[in-house]
This record gives sequence, structure tokens and C-alpha cells, in this order.
Amino acid sequence: MQERRKKRGPIIDFLLLGLIVTLTTVILVIILSKDEFKFQKISASKEESKTESVNSNLSTESSAFPGIRIVTDVSNDKRTPFAIHYPQTDNKVFNDAVLQYISDSKENYLASMKKNKDKDKEAMGELNISLETFPYREHYYSFVLTKMEYLGGANHEVSTKTFFINNETGEQITIQTLLQNDENNLSTLAANVRKDLQKNLQIKDELFTDELLKATEPKWSNFNRFAIVDDSLQFYFNEYEIASGAAGAPIVKLPLSLINPLLASEFQIAMENVKPTNPPPTGDPNKKRIALTFDDGPHPKVTEQILNILDKYHAKATFFMLGSRVQYYPDIARDVLARGHEIGNHSWNHPVLTKLTQEQVMKEYNTTANEIEKAINHGATVFRPPYGATNDTINAEIPIPVVLWSIDTLDWKHRNAQQLLPHVKNNLHNNAIVLMHDIHQSTADGLDAVLAYLQEQGYEFVTVSEILPYRQ
Ligand code: ZN
Repeated sequence: MQERRKKRGPIIDFLLLGLIVTLTTVILVIILSKDEFKFQKISASKEESKTESVNSNLSTESSAFPGIRIVTDVSNDKRTPFAIHYPQTDNKVFNDAVLQYISDSKENYLASMKKNKDKDKEAMGELNISLETFPYREHYYSFVLTKMEYLGGANHEVSTKTFFINNETGEQITIQTLLQNDENNLSTLAANVRKDLQKNLQIKDELFTDELLKATEPKWSNFNRFAIVDDSLQFYFNEYEIASGAAGAPIVKLPLSLINPLLASEFQIAMENVKPTNPPPTGDPNKKRIALTFDDGPHPKVTEQILNILDKYHAKATFFMLGSRVQYYPDIARDVLARGHEIGNHSWNHPVLTKLTQEQVMKEYNTTANEIEKAINHGATVFRPPYGATNDTINAEIPIPVVLWSIDTLDWKHRNAQQLLPHVKNNLHNNAIVLMHDIHQSTADGLDAVLAYLQEQGYEFVTVSEILPYRQ
């Protein structure tokens, strides 16, 4: 028995040993392969998180505006450059809304760049989000974030995101709130925005007709990119959204005075501050009055001759001057004022204002206002648009009364001294405003007869500002 056991022993031992070795090897292989898998997974996720939060420099600074901080986020990776600026306040809801937009923009950019780099290792791109801050009243702020994204090739795009907040309550104000949640107000606003774009000479030829009509349909979502900048409500459109690239990213500026009735009361402007109200009439209401006006001067010879005739009849008149001519003849402008007449602004070089952009209109107005102020040390008190061409927007923007006329002598057309009086006589009425031009010799030559006749009829010669109260 002992011998047999002894004989079988080494075989069993050998077999057991072999089994153990095999099992151990199998287990080891399984463990090792599992670990290897695990390691791979860890390193892969490490890679992923690396691309998600690209190495960047984040800094937060306080700003000139109370409670508003500006965050700057600049990429440290030359291959995926970006520079981002955005606002943060003490309001979490607002902060989260801004951050959502920023992180979406960044992720989209980095993902697109990654894709491009898979195709082309040298692919370059850029993301730039700039911030403009516009305070309104005590505690309202508009934030305009302009995003310029370049993904290489021709994929260049400019788009805008805006936020409008009450910094006292922290709440965001939507276009619905601004327009009193009134669909009629939305329709009026939409029509104004569309009209403004169609009239805009700089982009008129670049507009995509169908896209423009769609983007200016009276839908709230069409008008949620807005800001109040100075005295205007501005609307932003993305590059290529409604016009070709040559038009850039269009902006529509509507004067608050134009859309004042559409706005919720806390955003309305005090209309009496927009234009000086005309004083109530103080003179005798039964008296006959007439306002003679002379446009397009001053002229070194004709204006002087007209001034002498007016003096002869102790008549006061109004001279609507061109800024470009005041620049040449400031002495004559001074003489007109010194002799008791009123001086009006008639634009810089006589364009049809309704064909210009609002900015160009205001440039015509402002340059002339400055030139007159410089010449006579006194501002022009009334404005007359060349050719009488004006509209509600222009009338609302010009800060002084816009005055047309009620009797046209057509002196510029007939250039005949004998025809001046008949034209006045045929259209004569009380409180009339008579249009003449102090650049035509025939007007100066026919004026004496006009004054003699009107005086005989009992008319008093007053300035435009003096007659306006009687014309209301
Ligand atoms: Zn004129």
C-alpha cells in the first residue's frame, strides 16, 4: 500500500502543480488585460477633459458701473485662440444665462476646430466675443456681446447677443416687457425696423428681400437682440442674416422719441424734453402777421440788399442758412442777427434728407448748428429741411422746431422780380410763412414791392418763431 501510494504521489503532485500553474496564468492574463483596459479608459478620459477645458486665462475685474464685473477669458493655446469678455452681476439667473451663451459659443468653436484639425493639422481659427455696456437711466444696462468666429477657410461669421437688465432688481428685461406685452406695439415696431432697413442707403442694395421680410415679421423672437443706446432703441442682425457680407452685421436705430408711445412707462422719455414747447401767443390775436423767410444763403451781395429793404420797412424775417455758406460768410450771418432777424439751420449742403441715413441727417444738422454757433455766438432756433423733404423720424430727431412754409413764391424758378408780388398776393392768408431765396438777384429786386403791399394791407412782419404759436 505504502509503495503504491508512494508510486502515485509524484504523478498527482505533478498534475496538481500543472493545474495551479495553468489557473494562475489564466487569472493573471485576465487581471492584466482588465487592468490594461482600465488604464486605457483613464488615459482616454483624461484626453477628453483636456480638450473640453482648454488652457485659458480667466480674470474678473470690477467695472466703472456699480455691481457689474467684467470677466476676461483668453486662450493660452496658440492653435485655438480666443478672447472673450462678458459681464457678471450679483444676480445668479442673469449670470447663468450669460455663462450658458459663453460656454455654448466656446464649446462650439473648440469642437469645430478639433474637427478641422483632424482634416488639416495646421488649421487656424479665432473666436472673439467683445462686450459693450450701455447704461440707461439710473439702473438699466444694455450689454451687447458681439461674436466674431473664424473657423478657417471662408467660415467667418459675426453675430450678436444682447442682455438688458435692471441692475437694482437684477432682473432681465425682455422685448415683450419693453413693449408692454402688446402685439399692436410689436407690429408698429416691426414695421419701423423694416422701413428703416429698406431706407438705409448704405445697405439697401445688399438686402436679401425674402430674408428681410421674414426677419422683420412681427414676432417677439425676431426682436430679442436689442439695446438702448443714448436716445435710441437699437436692433441687431447677424452678418448674412438679411443682407450680403458687404452690409456687415446691420444695426437699426430707432429714436426713442419716435417709438415713445409703444414703450412701457418706465422706459418712456419725457417728450417735453425733446423739443422746446412753443410759447403761447402773447400778441393781439386779431392782428395780421406774416413771416418772410429766405433760404440757401448767406450771399455777400443779395443778402445785404435784402437786409436793407427789410430795414426800410422795419420788418423782421428769418434766414435759413446752409452751413457750407456760413463757413464762407460768417460776417453776413452776424449782420443778419445784429439787425434783429432770426437765423435757421437749412442743412450743410442741401441734400434730400429723406434719402439719407439718420446718421447722415444728423451730421447735416449738427455740422451746420456748430458752424452757425461759431459764426454768430448763438444757436439756430428753427430748422428747415431742403425741398421741405422730411419725415417723422427726422422731425423727431431734430431738437429744434422743423418749419416748412405756406406760400411758395417760386422765385427760384421764374427768377423774375415782377412775379414775386403776384405769387404772394394770390396765396395770401394770415399767419402765412413765405418761402423766398436770398441767393437770387431777382428776389432782392422784387422784394420792395412785396413789403409795400403787405404793409399797406396791415401785416406785421415777424420771425418764424414768433408766428408759430398762431399757426397751431
Ligand atoms: Zn433750400
